[in-house]
Amino acid sequence: MNNKIWLSSPHMGGNEQKYINEAFKENWVAPLGPNVNGFEEDLENFLNKNVKVAALSAGTAAIHLALIESGVQYGDEVICQSMTFSASANPIAYCGATPVFVDSEKETWNICPKALREAIEVRIQKGKKPKAIIVVHLYGMPAKMDEITAISKEFGIDLIEDAAEALGSTYKGQACGTFGRFGVLSFNGNKIITTSGGGALVCHTKEDQDKIVFLSTQARDNAPHYQHSHIGFNYRMSNIVAGIGRGQMEVLKDRIEARRGMHSFYVDIFKDIDGVDVFSEPNTDFYSNHWLSAIIVNPDITGKNREDLRLAFLEDNIESRPLWKPMHLQPVFADAPYYGTNISEKLFEDGLCLPSGSNLTEEEKERIATIINKFFKG
Ligand SMILES: *Cc1c(COP(=O)(O)O)cnc(C)c1O
Repeated sequence: MNNKIWLSSPHMGGNEQKYINEAFKENWVAPLGPNVNGFEEDLENFLNKNVKVAALSAGTAAIHLALIESGVQYGDEVICQSMTFSASANPIAYCGATPVFVDSEKETWNICPKALREAIEVRIQKGKKPKAIIVVHLYGMPAKMDEITAISKEFGIDLIEDAAEALGSTYKGQACGTFGRFGVLSFNGNKIITTSGGGALVCHTKEDQDKIVFLSTQARDNAPHYQHSHIGFNYRMSNIVAGIGRGQMEVLKDRIEARRGMHSFYVDIFKDIDGVDVFSEPNTDFYSNHWLSAIIVNPDITGKNREDLRLAFLEDNIESRPLWKPMHLQPVFADAPYYGTNISEKLFEDGLCLPSGSNLTEEEKERIATIINKFFKG
Protein backbone atom coordinates (compact mmCIF):
# COMPACT_ATOMS: atom_id res chain seq x y z
CA MET A 1 0.00 0.00 0.00
CA ASN A 2 1.23 3.47 -0.87
CA ASN A 3 1.76 5.86 2.03
CA LYS A 4 -1.30 7.91 2.94
CA ILE A 5 -1.73 11.35 1.39
CA TRP A 6 -3.75 13.55 3.74
CA LEU A 7 -6.08 16.38 2.84
CA SER A 8 -4.06 18.71 5.06
CA SER A 9 -1.47 17.66 7.60
CA PRO A 10 0.72 19.55 10.10
CA HIS A 11 3.91 21.04 8.67
CA MET A 12 6.45 22.15 11.24
CA GLY A 13 8.93 24.88 10.45
CA GLY A 14 11.81 23.82 12.72
CA ASN A 15 11.90 26.39 15.52
CA GLU A 16 8.77 25.26 17.35
CA GLN A 17 10.73 23.13 19.82
CA LYS A 18 13.12 25.98 20.58
CA TYR A 19 10.19 28.02 21.94
CA ILE A 20 8.84 25.02 23.84
CA ASN A 21 12.24 24.38 25.40
CA GLU A 22 12.46 27.99 26.54
CA ALA A 23 9.09 27.58 28.24
CA PHE A 24 10.36 24.50 30.10
CA LYS A 25 13.67 26.15 31.01
CA GLU A 26 11.91 29.17 32.51
CA ASN A 27 9.07 27.06 33.96
CA TRP A 28 6.34 28.89 32.04
CA VAL A 29 4.34 25.66 31.82
CA ALA A 30 0.99 27.41 32.26
CA PRO A 31 -1.74 29.18 30.28
CA LEU A 32 0.26 32.41 30.34
CA GLY A 33 3.84 33.45 29.66
CA PRO A 34 6.24 34.85 27.06
CA ASN A 35 5.12 32.53 24.25
CA VAL A 36 1.46 33.52 24.66
CA ASN A 37 2.40 37.22 24.56
CA GLY A 38 4.87 36.66 21.72
CA PHE A 39 2.40 34.68 19.61
CA GLU A 40 -0.27 37.36 20.05
CA GLU A 41 2.22 40.01 18.99
CA ASP A 42 3.27 37.97 15.94
CA LEU A 43 -0.37 37.65 14.87
CA GLU A 44 -1.02 41.38 15.38
CA ASN A 45 2.03 42.26 13.28
CA PHE A 46 0.96 39.87 10.56
CA LEU A 47 -2.69 40.96 10.37
CA ASN A 48 -2.48 44.69 11.02
CA LYS A 49 -0.62 46.48 13.79
CA ASN A 50 -3.82 48.14 15.04
CA VAL A 51 -5.65 44.95 15.98
CA LYS A 52 -5.52 43.30 19.42
CA VAL A 53 -5.35 39.52 19.56
CA ALA A 54 -6.31 37.20 22.43
CA ALA A 55 -4.83 33.68 22.15
CA LEU A 56 -7.32 31.00 23.19
CA SER A 57 -7.62 27.24 23.51
CA ALA A 58 -9.57 26.81 20.25
CA GLY A 59 -11.30 28.63 17.43
CA THR A 60 -14.58 27.30 18.81
CA ALA A 61 -13.84 28.99 22.15
CA ALA A 62 -13.11 32.22 20.27
CA ILE A 63 -16.54 32.12 18.58
CA HIS A 64 -18.22 31.43 21.92
CA LEU A 65 -16.59 34.44 23.61
CA ALA A 66 -17.26 36.67 20.57
CA LEU A 67 -20.98 35.80 20.83
CA ILE A 68 -21.03 36.55 24.56
CA GLU A 69 -19.31 39.90 24.02
CA SER A 70 -21.79 40.70 21.24
CA GLY A 71 -24.52 40.37 23.89
CA VAL A 72 -25.99 37.07 22.71
CA GLN A 73 -28.20 35.61 25.43
CA TYR A 74 -30.62 32.77 25.98
CA GLY A 75 -33.49 32.95 23.47
CA ASP A 76 -31.71 35.29 21.04
CA GLU A 77 -31.14 34.62 17.34
CA VAL A 78 -27.80 34.67 15.52
CA ILE A 79 -27.34 34.60 11.76
CA CYS A 80 -24.79 32.07 10.52
CA GLN A 81 -23.55 31.04 7.10
CA SER A 82 -25.08 27.61 6.48
CA MET A 83 -22.23 26.19 4.44
CA THR A 84 -19.51 25.77 7.05
CA PHE A 85 -17.99 23.47 9.63
CA SER A 86 -20.28 22.82 12.61
CA ALA A 87 -17.88 24.69 14.91
CA SER A 88 -19.13 27.98 13.41
CA ALA A 89 -22.66 27.28 14.65
CA ASN A 90 -22.31 25.16 17.80
CA PRO A 91 -21.34 28.10 20.07
CA ILE A 92 -24.70 29.73 19.20
CA ALA A 93 -26.32 26.74 20.91
CA TYR A 94 -23.88 27.03 23.86
CA CYS A 95 -25.42 30.47 24.46
CA GLY A 96 -28.95 29.06 24.40
CA ALA A 97 -29.57 31.04 21.22
CA THR A 98 -31.05 29.89 17.89
CA PRO A 99 -29.02 29.89 14.68
CA VAL A 100 -30.68 31.38 11.59
CA PHE A 101 -28.90 29.85 8.61
CA VAL A 102 -28.26 31.71 5.37
CA ASP A 103 -27.31 30.31 1.95
CA SER A 104 -24.11 30.96 -0.01
CA GLU A 105 -23.53 32.73 -3.31
CA LYS A 106 -21.81 30.95 -6.19
CA GLU A 107 -18.67 33.05 -6.54
CA THR A 108 -17.08 32.71 -3.09
CA TRP A 109 -19.30 29.95 -1.64
CA ASN A 110 -19.77 32.27 1.36
CA ILE A 111 -22.83 34.01 2.81
CA CYS A 112 -25.02 35.54 0.09
CA PRO A 113 -25.56 39.27 0.79
CA LYS A 114 -29.06 39.14 -0.76
CA ALA A 115 -30.19 36.18 1.34
CA LEU A 116 -28.55 37.79 4.40
CA ARG A 117 -30.62 40.96 3.95
CA GLU A 118 -33.79 38.91 3.47
CA ALA A 119 -33.09 36.90 6.62
CA ILE A 120 -32.52 40.02 8.73
CA GLU A 121 -35.63 41.77 7.40
CA VAL A 122 -37.88 38.76 7.96
CA ARG A 123 -36.54 38.13 11.47
CA ILE A 124 -37.06 41.82 12.36
CA GLN A 125 -40.65 41.60 11.05
CA LYS A 126 -41.15 38.66 13.38
CA GLY A 127 -39.94 40.83 16.25
CA LYS A 128 -36.58 39.08 16.57
CA LYS A 129 -33.69 41.26 15.50
CA PRO A 130 -30.61 39.00 15.20
CA LYS A 131 -27.88 39.75 17.74
CA ALA A 132 -24.89 38.88 15.53
CA ILE A 133 -23.90 37.72 12.06
CA ILE A 134 -21.30 34.97 11.60
CA VAL A 135 -19.67 35.07 8.17
CA VAL A 136 -17.11 32.42 7.16
CA HIS A 137 -14.22 32.60 4.67
CA LEU A 138 -14.60 29.05 3.41
CA TYR A 139 -11.42 27.18 2.48
CA GLY A 140 -9.61 30.53 2.72
CA MET A 141 -11.79 32.31 0.14
CA PRO A 142 -12.72 35.81 1.36
CA ALA A 143 -16.45 36.50 1.55
CA LYS A 144 -17.95 39.58 -0.17
CA MET A 145 -16.95 41.84 2.69
CA ASP A 146 -18.00 45.23 1.24
CA GLU A 147 -21.62 44.10 0.93
CA ILE A 148 -21.64 42.18 4.20
CA THR A 149 -20.06 44.90 6.37
CA ALA A 150 -22.47 47.44 4.81
CA ILE A 151 -25.46 45.28 5.86
CA SER A 152 -24.06 44.79 9.37
CA LYS A 153 -23.64 48.58 9.73
CA GLU A 154 -27.04 49.41 8.22
CA PHE A 155 -28.86 47.20 10.72
CA GLY A 156 -26.46 47.77 13.61
CA ILE A 157 -25.72 44.06 14.09
CA ASP A 158 -22.26 42.89 15.23
CA LEU A 159 -20.28 41.03 12.59
CA ILE A 160 -18.21 38.03 13.68
CA GLU A 161 -15.80 36.81 11.03
CA ASP A 162 -14.96 33.13 11.17
CA ALA A 163 -11.50 33.30 9.60
CA ALA A 164 -10.47 29.90 11.01
CA GLU A 165 -9.57 28.74 7.50
CA ALA A 166 -8.38 32.09 6.15
CA LEU A 167 -5.23 33.22 7.96
CA GLY A 168 -3.26 34.98 5.23
CA SER A 169 -6.25 35.68 2.97
CA THR A 170 -7.12 39.27 2.08
CA TYR A 171 -10.05 41.18 0.58
CA LYS A 172 -9.06 44.41 -1.23
CA GLY A 173 -5.72 44.16 0.54
CA GLN A 174 -7.17 43.90 4.07
CA ALA A 175 -6.55 40.76 6.13
CA CYS A 176 -9.48 38.40 6.66
CA GLY A 177 -10.31 38.39 10.35
CA THR A 178 -9.96 42.17 10.69
CA PHE A 179 -13.28 43.32 9.16
CA GLY A 180 -15.79 42.37 11.83
CA ARG A 181 -16.07 43.50 15.41
CA PHE A 182 -14.43 40.14 16.13
CA GLY A 183 -12.35 37.80 13.96
CA VAL A 184 -11.84 34.13 14.73
CA LEU A 185 -8.64 32.19 14.00
CA SER A 186 -7.94 28.48 14.47
CA PHE A 187 -4.67 26.59 14.81
CA ASN A 188 -6.10 23.09 14.82
CA GLY A 189 -3.97 20.29 13.37
CA ASN A 190 -5.33 20.58 9.84
CA LYS A 191 -5.22 24.38 9.45
CA ILE A 192 -2.66 26.36 7.42
CA ILE A 193 -0.55 26.69 10.56
CA THR A 194 -1.13 24.65 13.69
CA THR A 195 -0.35 24.73 17.38
CA SER A 196 -1.73 21.15 17.67
CA GLY A 197 -4.92 22.78 18.90
CA GLY A 198 -5.65 26.41 19.58
CA GLY A 199 -7.36 29.55 18.42
CA ALA A 200 -7.45 33.30 18.77
CA LEU A 201 -9.88 36.17 18.76
CA VAL A 202 -8.99 39.30 16.82
CA CYS A 203 -10.33 42.47 18.49
CA HIS A 204 -10.17 46.16 17.61
CA THR A 205 -9.92 47.74 21.05
CA LYS A 206 -7.80 47.09 24.12
CA GLU A 207 -11.07 46.97 26.11
CA ASP A 208 -12.45 44.10 24.00
CA GLN A 209 -9.14 42.23 24.17
CA ASP A 210 -8.87 42.68 27.96
CA LYS A 211 -12.46 41.51 28.41
CA ILE A 212 -11.86 38.40 26.28
CA VAL A 213 -8.71 37.51 28.25
CA PHE A 214 -10.63 38.14 31.50
CA LEU A 215 -13.51 35.84 30.46
CA SER A 216 -11.10 33.16 29.17
CA THR A 217 -9.26 33.01 32.51
CA GLN A 218 -12.27 32.34 34.77
CA ALA A 219 -13.38 35.97 35.10
CA ARG A 220 -11.50 36.83 38.29
CA ASP A 221 -12.20 40.28 39.66
CA ASN A 222 -9.29 42.35 40.90
CA ALA A 223 -9.05 41.16 44.53
CA PRO A 224 -6.54 39.21 46.67
CA HIS A 225 -9.05 36.37 47.13
CA TYR A 226 -11.09 34.72 44.35
CA GLN A 227 -13.89 37.18 43.65
CA HIS A 228 -16.29 36.76 40.72
CA SER A 229 -19.03 38.94 39.26
CA HIS A 230 -19.18 37.21 35.85
CA ILE A 231 -19.41 33.62 34.61
CA GLY A 232 -15.91 32.74 33.44
CA PHE A 233 -14.37 30.20 31.08
CA ASN A 234 -11.13 28.23 30.97
CA TYR A 235 -10.34 29.13 27.36
CA ARG A 236 -6.85 30.67 27.47
CA MET A 237 -4.03 29.27 25.32
CA SER A 238 -1.24 27.31 27.00
CA ASN A 239 2.28 28.77 26.87
CA ILE A 240 3.58 25.44 25.47
CA VAL A 241 1.08 25.46 22.63
CA ALA A 242 1.84 29.14 21.94
CA GLY A 243 5.51 28.15 21.51
CA ILE A 244 4.49 25.99 18.55
CA GLY A 245 2.56 28.99 17.24
CA ARG A 246 5.62 31.25 17.38
CA GLY A 247 7.62 28.73 15.37
CA GLN A 248 4.80 28.41 12.85
CA MET A 249 4.49 32.18 12.41
CA GLU A 250 8.09 32.21 11.13
CA VAL A 251 7.00 30.08 8.16
CA LEU A 252 3.43 31.31 7.58
CA LYS A 253 4.32 33.19 4.39
CA ASP A 254 5.93 30.04 2.94
CA ARG A 255 2.89 27.99 3.88
CA ILE A 256 0.57 30.42 2.06
CA GLU A 257 2.80 30.27 -1.02
CA ALA A 258 2.80 26.46 -0.94
CA ARG A 259 -1.00 26.19 -0.53
CA ARG A 260 -1.50 28.64 -3.36
CA GLY A 261 0.95 26.52 -5.33
CA MET A 262 -1.30 23.49 -4.77
CA HIS A 263 -4.21 25.49 -6.19
CA SER A 264 -2.15 26.30 -9.30
CA PHE A 265 -1.19 22.63 -9.55
CA TYR A 266 -4.90 21.69 -9.76
CA VAL A 267 -5.75 24.53 -12.16
CA ASP A 268 -3.07 23.13 -14.44
CA ILE A 269 -4.31 19.53 -14.21
CA PHE A 270 -7.95 20.45 -14.85
CA LYS A 271 -7.38 23.02 -17.60
CA ASP A 272 -8.08 20.42 -20.26
CA ILE A 273 -10.77 18.43 -18.42
CA ASP A 274 -14.20 19.79 -19.37
CA GLY A 275 -16.88 20.00 -16.71
CA VAL A 276 -14.61 20.43 -13.69
CA ASP A 277 -14.13 23.86 -12.09
CA VAL A 278 -11.32 24.54 -9.66
CA PHE A 279 -12.54 26.87 -6.88
CA SER A 280 -10.77 30.17 -7.65
CA GLU A 281 -10.92 33.86 -6.76
CA PRO A 282 -13.66 35.73 -8.72
CA ASN A 283 -11.32 38.70 -9.29
CA THR A 284 -8.20 40.38 -7.89
CA ASP A 285 -10.11 41.94 -4.95
CA PHE A 286 -10.03 38.44 -3.47
CA TYR A 287 -6.79 36.80 -2.35
CA SER A 288 -7.25 33.31 -0.91
CA ASN A 289 -4.65 31.40 1.11
CA HIS A 290 -6.20 28.37 -0.64
CA TRP A 291 -6.14 26.45 2.62
CA LEU A 292 -7.96 23.67 0.80
CA SER A 293 -8.19 23.34 -2.95
CA ALA A 294 -11.63 22.24 -4.09
CA ILE A 295 -13.39 21.35 -7.34
CA ILE A 296 -16.94 21.17 -8.64
CA VAL A 297 -17.58 18.15 -10.85
CA ASN A 298 -20.44 18.64 -13.30
CA PRO A 299 -21.87 15.14 -13.87
CA ASP A 300 -23.79 16.21 -17.00
CA ILE A 301 -20.58 17.22 -18.77
CA THR A 302 -18.07 14.75 -17.32
CA GLY A 303 -20.38 11.76 -17.03
CA LYS A 304 -18.74 11.24 -13.61
CA ASN A 305 -19.54 12.28 -10.07
CA ARG A 306 -17.43 13.49 -7.21
CA GLU A 307 -18.17 10.47 -5.02
CA ASP A 308 -16.60 8.09 -7.54
CA LEU A 309 -13.54 10.33 -7.71
CA ARG A 310 -13.33 10.25 -3.91
CA LEU A 311 -13.41 6.45 -4.00
CA ALA A 312 -10.77 6.32 -6.75
CA PHE A 313 -8.49 8.44 -4.57
CA LEU A 314 -9.23 6.27 -1.54
CA GLU A 315 -8.17 3.16 -3.42
CA ASP A 316 -4.70 4.70 -3.75
CA ASN A 317 -4.73 5.75 -0.05
CA ILE A 318 -5.34 9.41 -0.91
CA GLU A 319 -7.73 11.41 1.25
CA SER A 320 -10.28 13.76 -0.33
CA ARG A 321 -13.56 14.98 1.15
CA PRO A 322 -16.95 16.37 0.10
CA LEU A 323 -17.46 20.07 0.85
CA TRP A 324 -18.97 21.02 4.22
CA LYS A 325 -22.51 19.74 4.41
CA PRO A 326 -24.69 22.82 4.99
CA MET A 327 -25.85 23.30 8.57
CA HIS A 328 -29.52 23.63 7.60
CA LEU A 329 -29.35 20.02 6.33
CA GLN A 330 -27.83 18.70 9.56
CA PRO A 331 -30.15 16.67 11.81
CA VAL A 332 -28.97 18.57 14.88
CA PHE A 333 -30.13 21.90 13.37
CA ALA A 334 -33.28 20.58 11.65
CA ASP A 335 -35.53 23.09 13.45
CA ALA A 336 -33.45 26.19 12.71
CA PRO A 337 -34.78 28.80 10.25
CA TYR A 338 -33.06 28.98 6.85
CA TYR A 339 -33.00 31.64 4.12
CA GLY A 340 -31.81 31.13 0.58
CA THR A 341 -32.32 28.90 -2.41
CA ASN A 342 -30.31 25.75 -2.87
CA ILE A 343 -26.88 27.00 -3.84
CA SER A 344 -25.02 25.49 -0.88
CA GLU A 345 -26.94 22.23 -1.34
CA LYS A 346 -25.81 22.02 -4.96
CA LEU A 347 -22.20 22.86 -4.03
CA PHE A 348 -22.29 20.10 -1.43
CA GLU A 349 -23.61 17.64 -4.00
CA ASP A 350 -20.92 18.25 -6.61
CA GLY A 351 -17.93 19.56 -4.65
CA LEU A 352 -14.80 17.79 -3.46
CA CYS A 353 -11.81 19.01 -1.43
CA LEU A 354 -8.48 17.71 -2.69
CA PRO A 355 -5.16 17.09 -0.90
CA SER A 356 -3.81 20.58 -0.25
CA GLY A 357 -0.99 20.29 2.28
CA SER A 358 2.05 22.54 2.07
CA ASN A 359 4.26 19.48 2.58
CA LEU A 360 3.27 17.27 -0.36
CA THR A 361 6.24 15.90 -2.29
CA GLU A 362 6.61 15.89 -6.09
CA GLU A 363 6.09 12.13 -5.99
CA GLU A 364 2.83 12.51 -4.06
CA LYS A 365 1.61 15.19 -6.46
CA GLU A 366 2.39 12.81 -9.32
CA ARG A 367 0.21 10.13 -7.68
CA ILE A 368 -2.65 12.62 -7.34
CA ALA A 369 -2.36 13.74 -10.97
CA THR A 370 -2.30 10.15 -12.17
CA ILE A 371 -5.55 9.28 -10.37
CA ILE A 372 -7.30 12.39 -11.71
CA ASN A 373 -6.20 11.82 -15.29
CA LYS A 374 -7.09 8.15 -15.20
CA PHE A 375 -10.50 8.93 -13.70
CA PHE A 376 -11.55 11.59 -16.21
CA LYS A 377 -9.69 10.49 -19.34
CA GLY A 378 -10.14 6.74 -18.85
C1 LIG B 1 -11.55 24.69 12.25
C2 LIG B 1 -12.72 25.58 12.19
C3 LIG B 1 -13.31 26.09 13.35
C4 LIG B 1 -12.98 25.63 14.73
O1 LIG B 1 -11.71 25.84 15.16
P1 LIG B 1 -11.13 24.90 16.32
O2 LIG B 1 -9.83 25.56 16.63
O3 LIG B 1 -10.98 23.54 15.75
O4 LIG B 1 -12.07 24.95 17.48
C5 LIG B 1 -14.35 26.99 13.21
N1 LIG B 1 -14.81 27.34 12.00
C6 LIG B 1 -14.29 26.85 10.86
C7 LIG B 1 -14.84 27.31 9.56
C8 LIG B 1 -13.24 25.94 10.92
O5 LIG B 1 -12.75 25.42 9.79
